[in-house]
Amino acid sequence: MNGNPHLFIPGPTNVPDVIRRAMNIPMEDMRAPDFADFVTPLLSDLKQVFRQTGGRVFIYPTSGTGAWEAAITNTLNTGDRVLMSRFGQFSMLWVDMAERLGLEVDLCEVDWGKGVPLEDYAARLAADKDHKIKAVFATQNETATGVTSDVAGIRAALDATGHPALLFVDGVSSIASIEFEMEKWGVDLAVAGSQKGFMLPAGLGILAVSDKALAAHEDARMARCYFSFSDMIKLNDTGYFPYTPATQLLRGLRVSVDMLLEAGMESVWERHNRLAAGVRRAVEQWQGCRLVAHGPEWHSDTVSAIYTPEGVDARHVIETAYHKYQTSLGSGLAQLAGRAFRIGHLGSLNPVMLCGALSAAEMALVDAGVAIEPGAGVAAAQEHFRATTPPVQKSI
Ligand code: PLP
Repeated sequence: MNGNPHLFIPGPTNVPDVIRRAMNIPMEDMRAPDFADFVTPLLSDLKQVFRQTGGRVFIYPTSGTGAWEAAITNTLNTGDRVLMSRFGQFSMLWVDMAERLGLEVDLCEVDWGKGVPLEDYAARLAADKDHKIKAVFATQNETATGVTSDVAGIRAALDATGHPALLFVDGVSSIASIEFEMEKWGVDLAVAGSQKGFMLPAGLGILAVSDKALAAHEDARMARCYFSFSDMIKLNDTGYFPYTPATQLLRGLRVSVDMLLEAGMESVWERHNRLAAGVRRAVEQWQGCRLVAHGPEWHSDTVSAIYTPEGVDARHVIETAYHKYQTSLGSGLAQLAGRAFRIGHLGSLNPVMLCGALSAAEMALVDAGVAIEPGAGVAAAQEHFRATTPPVQKSI
């Protein structure tokens, strides 16, 4: 009777009906003689989403965090030095994991609102004449702050110094949404999660691995078992998995990959950019509010983190949007709790859906006493969408 609730957190994202239907099937035999006919092309088609031709993609029944752990434990050794940067909740958690797994972290501390510090990375790589740094880590899209970093720039810094370190990218809130080029950018390990750009429920950690990283795996001695690449490779090569796969999620993933590839990755990236720009237009109209991202070079096309004005508790805005307007906005994480809210704009989404989210956020802000002219943000977004939305779009 009250209509649908609206989900505008930066993952899990809305699951398209066609994907939901593809998962609503009876349990199936994951050792059936023809199951491999389904798995083998899925693994190879997934590579196109990551934009790789060589290497491999692994699908683990886990979340993005599990895929991070798989990436580290399969390719590095305890005590290895790694170059990392911390500028939000997720880059922070990745550093924490690296330390807990026994890596020696060479850490760049960055203001929240900025991303991977390219100059600092370049300087540290140039200074590392003995190539002690075994891996360079980058959170491509920091979901907590709505900040996107320049992965191609990190590759350029590695190449400029002739540094052989592996390049690890957390693409959990970027891959399958914004530009990501595994091979062109020379990324060695790229982590994604099913619940963001892939438009699925949480439950799959998807990890793309380069040939160079597969070679590093041969010498990597960190303890691992469930996430072992070797065990996966042995079974994946036959079209099966070393343990019970999440078959329904895999059936959904098949449809997701088909939708992404049918639309074309460039079109998916362009749509996210277009939608994100509409959100940013709205935020410009919300007096006293501003993006957490420090400037356009950091703007994320999948999530906007927005500071509320001084004296306005962002938690109050989020609660009002949820209880009064049935709209879930993302909360401010860690040091942003109470100071910022987030709008997720990734996955299966169109301008009218987004106008709904902006309208709910705007009403909740006005309810919280923010001096916004009602409708101003939505109107600005509408103008942008009217001017930029192509008349015929692919289905996602
Ligand atoms: N990295 C980023 C950038 C994320 O946004 C998230 C989750 O939101 C994670 C890692 C952790 O992924 P998961 O919650 O799927 O384990």
